[in-house]
This record gives sequence, C-alpha cells and structure tokens, in this order.
Amino acid sequence: MRKKPDKLILKNINKLFALAKKESKKRPRLSKRYIALARKIAKRSNISLKNYRRLFCHKCNAFFVPGKNCQIRISKGKVSIKCLGCKSYVRYVYKKKK
Ligand SMILES: [Zn+2]
Repeated sequence: MRKKPDKLILKNINKLFALAKKESKKRPRLSKRYIALARKIAKRSNISLKNYRRLFCHKCNAFFVPGKNCQIRISKGKVSIKCLGCKSYVRYVYKKKK
C-alpha cells in the first residue's frame, strides 16, 4: 500500500514550484535549479508530481512560460509542447469534459 505523502514535503514542493514560477522570467537558471530540487525530493519520498507534471520540461527542467521558452500546439485532440531550450517535445491527449 502506498503511504500518504508527508504534508511537510508537499509544502516544500509547492514552495519550490512557486519560486520556480516566480524566477522563470528573470532567472531561468535558478528556476531550473528549483525544479530539479523539487523533482529530487519527490523522487526520494515517492510522491507523484501530477499537478505540476506538464508545467516543466522533463529533459532540462525548464519551467514553461508560453510564448517565451515553449511552443504549444493543439491538433487532433493532442497537445504538444515544444521546449525551446532543449528542443524536446511533450505530448499528451486531452479530452473534452462531458
Ligand atoms: Zn527542455
């Protein structure tokens, strides 16, 4: 059985993502560092980053700022995000809510 995530760890992760968002425009390197740290904590304590999964590049840890460091395209029910830093793609399917 999976353990309930520790509240303090979740709080720290939320804080790191908030900081990454704040610094993403002015200091992208610092924001990458925050995301790398948050991912490391989540990995170590077995917490999924489900709310944040699509907010950053999984390859270079860049926080996505639409129109600045990523390109978002929608076609045939799929969303594809291209990271302009490392040229990698993230694709996922979206469904309309009924
Ligand atoms: Zn990237």
